[in-house]
Amino acid sequence: MKIGVLAIQGDFEAHGEMLWRFGVTASFPRKAAELAGLDGLILPGGESTTQLKFLEREGLAPALQEFAARGGAIFGTCAGAILLAREVRNPPQASLGLLDIAVSRNGYGRQLDSDVRFGKTVLRDQPIEMVFIRAPVIDEIGRGVMVLAEDGGRPVMVRQGRVMASTFHPELTSDDSIHRYFLSLIDERS
Ligand code: GLN
Repeated sequence: MKIGVLAIQGDFEAHGEMLWRFGVTASFPRKAAELAGLDGLILPGGESTTQLKFLEREGLAPALQEFAARGGAIFGTCAGAILLAREVRNPPQASLGLLDIAVSRNGYGRQLDSDVRFGKTVLRDQPIEMVFIRAPVIDEIGRGVMVLAEDGGRPVMVRQGRVMASTFHPELTSDDSIHRYFLSLIDERS
């Protein structure tokens, strides 16, 4: 299984370490051509405005849309979820439109002071630890979108087909169940 973590900016290394626990050596693509041959791709947290500029400069937006169209699995965390959304608010900005959600930026936690919560998940019976760092709020989800975790009744992790997103940072806890779920989602292809 070949998985990449988009290494534009943000905490891509922590995702790489999480995947390493499962025996997966991630690659760190920065260019459209480096997406070739990947089965799955993680879009890490960071600053979505900066990441968006990079996507535009490198022609990565159409490459990511093609990657999804050919069945590549994508997991966006925090800023990555913002990039995947159908609509971005507060303030509005361009996005890839690969996930039928509307998000408002900068809803939870602060940049230097993460907000740690425990919320319900469909992945298991026990609540899951969720670290929010200036995280977006999911305001709307489309009909085809499944809620995988919530915080106080609001969706914070969702999935639509082979695209999933969390508004929190699963790579910053010791709990690897979300990365495990992403790996199983990639495997569903076969
Ligand atoms: N607030 C950031 C943004 O809008 C996301 C923060 C994060 O990824 N931790 O891009």
